[in-house]
Amino acid sequence: MTNRKILIADDNQQIRMLVSASLRSLGHELVVAVDGEEALEKAIAERPDLVLLDVTMPKLDGFEVLGFLRKRPETADLKVIMLTTAAQQTDKKRGAELGCDDYLVKPFEPGELREVVQAVLTQ
Ligand SMILES: [Mg+2]
Repeated sequence: MTNRKILIADDNQQIRMLVSASLRSLGHELVVAVDGEEALEKAIAERPDLVLLDVTMPKLDGFEVLGFLRKRPETADLKVIMLTTAAQQTDKKRGAELGCDDYLVKPFEPGELREVVQAVLTQ
């Protein structure tokens, strides 16, 4: 697989560092956002191939960001993996309705993250 650009949007620095460290070995270019507003801005400005999108973030939550992305023609098909702390059916249902490509429940293992990322990028 050729290298892709991945946007990591999470307000938790430890998660951003864990995700970055886990994905760096795959050779992808990584871009980081620390809240929902920055996630939306960078998803539009940086044109990533994939966004790892935390659900609970300041300013805009992950569902709001996903909703905006799906409404804009230039980001409507952007691949999105939601990150959340709870495997709640309501969150999964809402993510699926808004059109996320996959779902990762924290805490996840680096290997699991890499698998899901590569699977979504090759879809
Ligand atoms: Mg969060």
